[in-house]
Amino acid sequence: MEEVRNIKNILENIDKDHFYLLTEVGKISKEINQKSYLVGGMVRDLLLGFDNLDIDIVVEDNAALLADALISKIPNCELSAKHDRFHTAKVIFNINGKKIPVDLASTRTETYEFPGALPSVQRTNSLKEDLNRRDFTINALAVSLLPDSFGNIVDSFGGLEDLKNKKIKVVPNENIFTDDPTRMIRAIRFATKFNFEIEEKTKALLEKAMSSGKFDNLIEKIRGDRVKIEIRYLFNLPNIEQAIKIFFESKVYRMVSTKLMEPESRRVRESESWLVALAFIINKINNNEQEKIMKNLQMTGDEIKIITSAFNANKLLLENKNPDSLFIYKLLKGLSNQSIEILKILCKDVACNVSPIDEYLNNTSKIKLHITGQDLISMGIPSGKQIGEILDKVLEAKINNPNMTKDDELKEAKKFLL
Ligand code: ATP
Repeated sequence: MEEVRNIKNILENIDKDHFYLLTEVGKISKEINQKSYLVGGMVRDLLLGFDNLDIDIVVEDNAALLADALISKIPNCELSAKHDRFHTAKVIFNINGKKIPVDLASTRTETYEFPGALPSVQRTNSLKEDLNRRDFTINALAVSLLPDSFGNIVDSFGGLEDLKNKKIKVVPNENIFTDDPTRMIRAIRFATKFNFEIEEKTKALLEKAMSSGKFDNLIEKIRGDRVKIEIRYLFNLPNIEQAIKIFFESKVYRMVSTKLMEPESRRVRESESWLVALAFIINKINNNEQEKIMKNLQMTGDEIKIITSAFNANKLLLENKNPDSLFIYKLLKGLSNQSIEILKILCKDVACNVSPIDEYLNNTSKIKLHITGQDLISMGIPSGKQIGEILDKVLEAKINNPNMTKDDELKEAKKFLL
């Protein structure tokens, strides 16, 4: 990457409504004597050549003042949230029928009472201090939006150099990982996502933190939802095999549970959801531990069900070495696509035959009846629950005998008439 100190030309090439909005924010901040900067992921990604329109703006020094000014001066701009404790606000711009959310935050510093605690936040009038509360140098770049310096990059910690050298390096802060251990998951996420290396000192800090034992089974002690968010990002990456590998190599897995073991084989392919990867990883540990992890990660009932129903189906499959089509049909028919994805991977893992599941997906699940509920009503069956039950029975018969004609199906249905 060549030396870039101003990205006005890059910003001019993003979506024109977003660009307009950034210039307006800059003009209005100047009018009220505030300095506004674009920060975080959008700056990083634009410099890397990726699209990212998640606008995070830091205001030196008062975001609330800028939020008020934007709302009063820009037509159709509304306040969607304001958090006085964190000195942040969210406004929504309506431009050309598009709703564009913008996060505003005052320049601030943070202190942590214990690892993983929510920080207590203090306002500061120093942009540099705000950039120093962030995690990695590549995430601590700011871009001025003020008209006179529009596009100028503020790089207090060498983020541009690290982008160029493909390094994940923490901003100067000895307590970076102890203050907020989720940053360790973020480190391995960005390293995996961009195929960057974790810089030596950062790696040493991470290793020191993870081998201290302080963060073992962390989700039992702190709010697991923040860990869950980061795990979800990590395991949703396309290069999931690499994500799983670094998750274990870096020992970051110990935050979730020290009982986890790196799976022998990495079969979780691209494009599957994070739940598939998580299920694969927790598959080998005992039920109680699995439940504890899912609960401590504050997973939703639906997410837990996706995993547990796959585990239960896997048990039944293991007990039945030669399952026929009907058995597989009954086992899989109520399962979500994600549960079936999990089951496919677990089956491969225990070297059981995966073909019954493919058979179900490619054939059995597509078998349809010629007859409909209307045919049964014509036979004198009153409309209601019984119709569905009989159609199910006929379908089961057809799964055993896919060549059934319409007449065969009607005959089969008659068997179930009272
Ligand atoms: P992505 O959009 O790929 O998730 P991001 O960097 O935008 O990446 P966000 O979670 O939206 O991620 O955070 C925005 C910015 O806020 C980051 O770039 C970073 O500067 C800062 N940040 C976010 N989380 C943390 C954290 N746990 N510790 C320190 N700084 C953080």
